[in-house]
Amino acid sequence: MPKDSTLDWLVIGGGIHGCYLANCLIRKRFTGRSDLRILDPHGQPLAQWKRVTSNTGMEYLRSPKVHHLDMEPLALKHFARCSACDDQFIAPNERPSLKLFNRHADTVLEKSGLQDLFIKNYATDIEKSGDRYLVHTANGVIKARHILLSIGMGDSPEWPDWADHLKRESGSIEHVLSQNYSRKSIPHEGEIVIVGGGMSAIQTALSLSGDSRRITVLSPHSLRINNYDSDPGWMGPKYLNRYRTISCANRRRAVIGEARNSGSITHDLHRRFGLEVKSGRCRFVVDRINSAVALTNDLMMMETATGENIAANSIVLATGYPNRRPGGEMIDRLINRFDLKCATCGYPVTGTDLQWADGLFVTGALAEIEIGPAARNLVGARMSEVRLGNAVGEIKV
Ligand SMILES: Cc1cc2nc3c(=O)[nH]c(=O)nc-3n(C[C@H](O)[C@H](O)[C@H](O)COP(=O)(O)OP(=O)(O)OC[C@H]3O[C@@H](n4cnc5c(N)ncnc54)[C@H](O)[C@@H]3O)c2cc1C
Repeated sequence: MPKDSTLDWLVIGGGIHGCYLANCLIRKRFTGRSDLRILDPHGQPLAQWKRVTSNTGMEYLRSPKVHHLDMEPLALKHFARCSACDDQFIAPNERPSLKLFNRHADTVLEKSGLQDLFIKNYATDIEKSGDRYLVHTANGVIKARHILLSIGMGDSPEWPDWADHLKRESGSIEHVLSQNYSRKSIPHEGEIVIVGGGMSAIQTALSLSGDSRRITVLSPHSLRINNYDSDPGWMGPKYLNRYRTISCANRRRAVIGEARNSGSITHDLHRRFGLEVKSGRCRFVVDRINSAVALTNDLMMMETATGENIAANSIVLATGYPNRRPGGEMIDRLINRFDLKCATCGYPVTGTDLQWADGLFVTGALAEIEIGPAARNLVGARMSEVRLGNAVGEIKV
């Protein structure tokens, strides 16, 4: 820590975005190691990423091999050559296996010594005194001249109302993206219902299929097949040049909504899931749940919109994250305190340099009005790097 105990940078959130950008700030010499810290309740890099990808049983990323945590685009390809990892990439787009991606990420972060810069805590409030931000945590206040908010989609996945009710009745229901989910606690036999129709739902179905379980994937829509979250044109000038000419934040939000291939799955997952359905180990039902009751601790009954009754011994939600700005009350207070600009959807309207207020920067989900549909993803961290690099270069001059 610096002598006067004021950091140059405090990165709030040590996930994909926070770690990638903290590493860039140091490696590009925009700041020194002793002048930067990463605040995250997990106390270690990428905890959230590792949990959700392991919970779903994901084997391969959706992103191509040039999207990873090192700064040189071909670094993962070179790493793979020297790695003993089998099944390294899958077509199309040479997508890395999760195992290879994580090994590479661990090596990059170990080399940069980022782990030593972690402070294990949660930011609860942000104030300002002179040119310093005061970040409140349960263990006291951290002072910094610059803040990077990289809090992801937050720590709470989406629980529909009927599921909340069921959980209160002690039903056997869990969200695959939550901290409490454990594949081991899913019974080895009986009826398992997975609610959702996107990547997480199908990956979860594949990871649970087997033993004597009967798996039902209950989706609000038929299977949508697409290899990308959004068209690759959103990663470069093809669509982004036009997007940047849109001055209305609400129009930008509408464009993001249209551009996202929400709830879609890749071709390879579709093929694998098709085989499970053909074998009778899984079934796929398009319907919505209206209500659910717990008959006993491990027997629940759902009533669907089409009037079907579906019984389950265990329910796994794969319903993603809520459709609202992450950060809860801390960000609400921040907006009120500094009179920060937001779109009607509640997300930040920042400068092109991702600065929301003087010295306060955002990335990831919070930067999507500025960066576009790919903001949350790995490639979004690279896009933020360019914007932040321009801004920080100017600050230094
Ligand atoms: C199953 C699954 C598969 C995916 N596959 C891909 C893929 O192949 N390619 C791709 O590009 N994207 C993929 N994504 C999306 C990707 O995971 C996210 O876009 C990415 O992890 C977001 O990174 P992040 O750093 O913004 O957020 P996170 O990784 O969620 O990290 C945010 C961190 O901030 C912390 N935090 C939150 N609030 C506070 C606070 N107040 N104080 C301190 N810390 C706080 C959180 O605890 C967390 O540790 C996938 C997502 C899922 C769920």
